[in-house]
Amino acid sequence: MKVHVLLGPPGSGKGTQAKHLVEKLPLIHLSTGDILRDAVSKGTELGLRVKANMASGKLVDDNTVNGIVFARLQDETNDILFDGYPRTLFQAESLQTFLSSQGTALGLVVDIEIQEQELEVRVVNRRVCSNPDCCAIYNLNSKTPQVEGICDLCGSPLKHRSDDTPQALHSRLLEFNKTFEPLQSFYKGKPNYRYVEGNRPPELIHDRLVQLFQEQA
Ligand code: AMP
Repeated sequence: MKVHVLLGPPGSGKGTQAKHLVEKLPLIHLSTGDILRDAVSKGTELGLRVKANMASGKLVDDNTVNGIVFARLQDETNDILFDGYPRTLFQAESLQTFLSSQGTALGLVVDIEIQEQELEVRVVNRRVCSNPDCCAIYNLNSKTPQVEGICDLCGSPLKHRSDDTPQALHSRLLEFNKTFEPLQSFYKGKPNYRYVEGNRPPELIHDRLVQLFQEQA
């Protein structure tokens, strides 16, 4: 098993890119945001615990997120593509320790960079499939569903994430800016760190990502 990481601010397209990549490459997509949203919508003990933080755009505490991730990785044999994890230096260091203890390699770390002004437009127009087994992502400007409000892939209703409002985005960006620099510095010196310019059409970013993954395979 190898573990790859997509870095980038909320709205940079990590989730969309991850979903398209796993259609083409032998990778399993693991989004901590999707796992946590599923827990919130099912009202599990975890969901009740993290609900308020998620709704206001704050991060969930490191130990909770690490616990979810390591339990998920424990018996995994396939290569994993993380989206939204690690989010803090502590998570990155904990992941590294976990991987070393398992004799598992860190694969690519791809940093999708994008200017902040672009993010609000993307996030406010984002719609996601409400089916937790699908989680397809749409955009009212650039990727509209064939039938308004309905997922093309599974027919479930689309919804606007409660943390995709300008207010919650502001809080998510504050969190991001607080935690990102040390996280980026942790990975920047590593040989598998790659930078991708995110202010481009998603198809071009996709092609670049496929190229990067194929080069290192
Ligand atoms: P995302 O779907 O990646 O934008 O994540 C949505 C929300 O889930 C975030 O704003 C956090 O509240 C929570 N979350 C997701 N991943 C993490 C993580 N790695 N660490 C802490 N909180 C997270």
